[in-house]
Amino acid sequence: MLKTPAYAALSAKAALVPFSVERREPGPHDVLIEILYCGICHSDLHQVHDEWNRSIFPMVPGHEIIGTVAQVGKAATRWKAGDTVGVGCFVDSCRECEACRAGEEQFCAQGANFTYNSHERDGKTPTYGGYSTRVTVDENYVLRIPKGIPLERAAPLLCAGITTYSPLRHYGVKPASKVAVVGLGGLGHMAVKLARAMDAQVTVLSHSPGKRQDALRLGADDFIATRDAQVFTQHAGRFDFILDTVSAQHDYNAYLGLLRRGGTMVLVGLPDPTPLSAGPLIMGRRRLAGSLIGGIRETQEMLDFCAAHGVASDVEVIPMQQVNTAYERLVKGDVRYRFVIDIASLKHA
Ligand code: NAP
Ligand code: ZN
Ligand code: ZN
Repeated sequence: MLKTPAYAALSAKAALVPFSVERREPGPHDVLIEILYCGICHSDLHQVHDEWNRSIFPMVPGHEIIGTVAQVGKAATRWKAGDTVGVGCFVDSCRECEACRAGEEQFCAQGANFTYNSHERDGKTPTYGGYSTRVTVDENYVLRIPKGIPLERAAPLLCAGITTYSPLRHYGVKPASKVAVVGLGGLGHMAVKLARAMDAQVTVLSHSPGKRQDALRLGADDFIATRDAQVFTQHAGRFDFILDTVSAQHDYNAYLGLLRRGGTMVLVGLPDPTPLSAGPLIMGRRRLAGSLIGGIRETQEMLDFCAAHGVASDVEVIPMQQVNTAYERLVKGDVRYRFVIDIASLKHA
């Protein structure tokens, strides 16, 4: 076993503290990755706070991992030492079920093995995430980071990037599609950049009026401040597609009214349960759907798309020691637009 420095929450809502995890020696099909950067996703915070009621402690969060391959298992063929790679939200799955065979491992019928707050295939060894200096991962669950994307700005693509890319593709967003992005945070700002790179017409709906300039700079064509309830009447029926990335409770029904006839709203934000009326769906044959990250194949496609279109995350790089302050700021919405931990700060501490 490889003793590895990390930061962990020891119980629900506790501050993260220095911790040590055991990484497995690379098996035949594994790679050992030295971690360079790890993004901070709002899901890290939901899980540290046990807001989804299934948290396992101690918890080492982190599923937006960028690193360098340090060691390769005997039978591993996909990677060599020195390769720049990524690890996203899951590190294994059954590989046999319909979802796995379709390349949508995140929906594995036996339960995907998530990067942290989850277990390995044996069902008992806990998984620990990227707030640590290295990780051992099966070679088939590792992503290639294309040249040209600054590495700290690539980290958030492994969750925020794929979570927004996948529904945009799945629901056929195309040039001139009228797309609204609700919430301009880590996921939201990636949604704006990706939809723009797909030549869609992008509008940001935000409860923070001060984000208008940023939204336009990031590539949005329009910005609507949702604190003024009147905008929901003013823009009724305007959008083909709405991607809702909001992490806190809000009224889905109001947003559904902004869809055109037959339009689709996809939820990726995961707040506490929120009431839903049939009315706005029935009147206009609208659809409400959800989406979960993306499979390995599509994540690689997204990374290559980002490299080809010059898309990367806007980040604030922090040392590991500032993670608790970063969480406090994330709750307050004080981040432009993703915190990324420089893991060197943990190695040299
Ligand atoms: P984030 O950076 O904190 O962004 C969330 C945004 O939601 C904020 O920037 C803010 O945008 C808006 N918001 C926050 N509080 C609000 C409130 N009280 N009322 C209205 N809007 C509010 O979080 P994130 O990392 O992008 O994650 C967003 C959500 O997606 C989280 O729930 C996370 O767990 C979930 N997630 C889901 C998946 C998936 O696969 N489905 C993957 C990753 C994350 P404005 O200031 O512009 O309003
Ligand atoms: Zn995430
Ligand atoms: Zn499966």
